[in-house]
Amino acid sequence: MNTSVATYGSHSALQILKGAKDEGLGAVLLCPRNRRKFYERFRLADKLLLVDSVEDLLRKDIQDSLMGMGSILVPHGTIISDVEISRFVKDFKVPIFGNRELLVWESDRELKEKLLKEASIEVPRAFSSPDEVDCPVIVKLPGAEGGRGYFLASGREDLIKKLTKMGAGTSCELYIQEYVIGVTVYPHFFYSPLKGEVELLGVDRRYETNVDSLGRIPASDQLNLDVQPTYEVVGNIPLVIRESMLEKFFDIAESFVEATKRLVPPGIIGPFCIEAICRSPDDIVVFEFSARIVAGTNLFISGSPYSYLLHGEGMSMGRRIAKEIRLACETSDLKKLVT
Ligand code: AMP
Repeated sequence: MNTSVATYGSHSALQILKGAKDEGLGAVLLCPRNRRKFYERFRLADKLLLVDSVEDLLRKDIQDSLMGMGSILVPHGTIISDVEISRFVKDFKVPIFGNRELLVWESDRELKEKLLKEASIEVPRAFSSPDEVDCPVIVKLPGAEGGRGYFLASGREDLIKKLTKMGAGTSCELYIQEYVIGVTVYPHFFYSPLKGEVELLGVDRRYETNVDSLGRIPASDQLNLDVQPTYEVVGNIPLVIRESMLEKFFDIAESFVEATKRLVPPGIIGPFCIEAICRSPDDIVVFEFSARIVAGTNLFISGSPYSYLLHGEGMSMGRRIAKEIRLACETSDLKKLVT
């Protein structure tokens, strides 16, 4: 039985399938029924299993089919956001590329902060009550994610005024974080358990609406419009980081890898992203991480400047995952990569 890579049809599925094929592995798509035509246009999947939603991945017949095809699931952001992740990691019995427990940590704000602190990475200050606020803050309402349901307050009074206007009160479960003023940078890393090494494979910044459009409105008009920033991602923009800053990002990534090994053994496996804001070239704050492939890697399906330096042409994150699986199959080391 040959090994195949399986993924769900959304997010970064195209590059995951292409990467599998380029490395000589089978490519299986768990395809939402209404997206069949779209995915068939690219002719990348060797096998298409039609499903209604991510929830169907928990069906016994689907899991049996995946097992029968020697599949390893590559998880991505849609899988994390569209099912209750703790239930998914418990009930999905097919091998997952990566550390499935870390997907749970990624989805929980407190665990996430705990991991970043364990890595001694600077994170934005968090306030447990609006009364403690003494700087501009970004407020993440309960259940808010992906930049939806966030709002900004310039300080304590502004925050209390906004919460009162929203009828949210000051006692509801708010996640109040220092608003870090600087530029956002999202480096995509890959930790290879086979080599014991962190690789930088690309960098992007997210294009978020409406916050990235505010600079096009003169300040005087912004005052009249009373416009509030929102942070929903609509795309990604490629970035290269000043070469003199790259080492700091590697330091952060390596501290992160070591912290995951201590707190969530066996630690991170494969792709992850550090979501950072640079106040200045020397002052980097990390407000989030993703413990799996991020959609910003879709920029680099034919490779990035950094993946070119390490691997030559055409090394996407999807292909890097497949390459690690192929190498592990050749040396009977697959257990180092899947959970
Ligand atoms: P997240 O859902 O945490 O990835 O955040 C969505 C977007 O909100 C980010 O890409 C940033 O533009 C912005 N953001 C989140 N947290 C902060 C913060 N602490 N300071 C400044 N901007 C932030």
